[in-house]
Amino acid sequence: MKKLLSRRFVLDSRSIRPGDVFVAIKGKKVDGHEFVQEAFERGAYAAVVEKPVKHSGNIYLVENVVDFLADLAREKLGSLESKRIIGITGSNGKTTTKEILYQLLSFTDSVFKTPGNMNTEYGLPLSLINEYKNENILVLEMAMNKKGDIKHLCSIAPPDIAVILNVGTSHIGLLGSRKDIMEAKLEIISYSRENSVVVCFHDDDELRERVREINKKTLFFGRRGGDVVLEDWWYANGDTACIIEHFGEKIAFKLSGIWNEGQILSLLASVSVLKALGKELPVRILPELKLPENRFHVMRSKGLYIINDTYNASLESFDVAVKTMLRIGEGKKYAVVGSIKEQGMFSKETHERLGKKLEALDGVYLYTADDEINQMKCSKILMRSDNPKVIAENLFSRVAAGDVILFKASRFVEIEKVLKEFMGLLGK
Ligand code: ADP
Repeated sequence: MKKLLSRRFVLDSRSIRPGDVFVAIKGKKVDGHEFVQEAFERGAYAAVVEKPVKHSGNIYLVENVVDFLADLAREKLGSLESKRIIGITGSNGKTTTKEILYQLLSFTDSVFKTPGNMNTEYGLPLSLINEYKNENILVLEMAMNKKGDIKHLCSIAPPDIAVILNVGTSHIGLLGSRKDIMEAKLEIISYSRENSVVVCFHDDDELRERVREINKKTLFFGRRGGDVVLEDWWYANGDTACIIEHFGEKIAFKLSGIWNEGQILSLLASVSVLKALGKELPVRILPELKLPENRFHVMRSKGLYIINDTYNASLESFDVAVKTMLRIGEGKKYAVVGSIKEQGMFSKETHERLGKKLEALDGVYLYTADDEINQMKCSKILMRSDNPKVIAENLFSRVAAGDVILFKASRFVEIEKVLKEFMGLLGK
């Protein structure tokens, strides 16, 4: 297998380039084993499969593709002795924290990060196999939607620093309860390296107590207390001013653009990781930090504040989005929203709770490309439509300079289609 490591591993047969290795996985909708022939036609060097296929070529039949990828990723990683692994989990803010940390650490170190949201049992090993170049600090997103997922990721890359950002309700439909979600996330501590340090959100009482019980060295960050505390923040001239208490010392700094509370907390988590690594906080580069795209990105056009939060949605990230909207812009506040997915039997309750949060705004548009959002009740609903153009035109005719507009839904809904129409009307 070792000789395969110099090649690129690909799950999607359409992305195969000559010399790649095609890995057949059985997805929710399609089974990759049906595309082995196509992969070879595109020039694949070999195919890794879990069940026999008709094609005669360079076929590696393995018992379990997930275990195979994990083994290969471990091989690629090699000895962990001089490496520091930072594993990040949490219901909201994993990508944000990873991107901030990457920028902070890259000033002094060679750093690897999982690209995009390559944070699953496929994404994490594939990113190591394909892109790891022996960097000595690794910043890895570790996602889960069931018990055992994080344990598996830790078996590939056991963290020296285990970060738990928060425990929310994403994937509650798959996990059952908040407690189950919390326990599944705590695997990042149980399966970290022996002398690992934990970085954990302070303000969730249940989480804090559970983490204290585990009795590992822990740095807490939060609003209500901890080692790194967000004391206050405000918005001025399109930027964010923050005051934090950092291990007993007060520090004031500016961040470029509008950061919401969740994003600032992700920065505090990153700052705690720096401390755990024994590194100084580079205060002077904080104003240069950039946030990942499409996650609460505030744009200005024709006097409007347009918030592109189209990447994903959960109740918690809606909560910070709405609170932040109320603090910016002198005009009215509107939201164009779609379903929050993966809520299972909690879907109705989730959307009802969302409706209550949106009562704080002046007007709400429901993008009904996906039906679940129709369960929402809110007295501020102005329109519901599955046609992006119809919503965009109505919104455009209503807004005035100083107004704030949020676009937000789960990834599956693709609410960016409405944003695109709206930006078109603004001439963007
Ligand atoms: P993830 O990678 O965990 O899915 P992202 O970094 O993509 O999360 O951020 C998703 C959403 O959560 C964005 O809307 C962002 O504004 C918000 N967010 C970021 N960090 C936090 C946090 N610590 N708490 C709550 N919301 C957050």
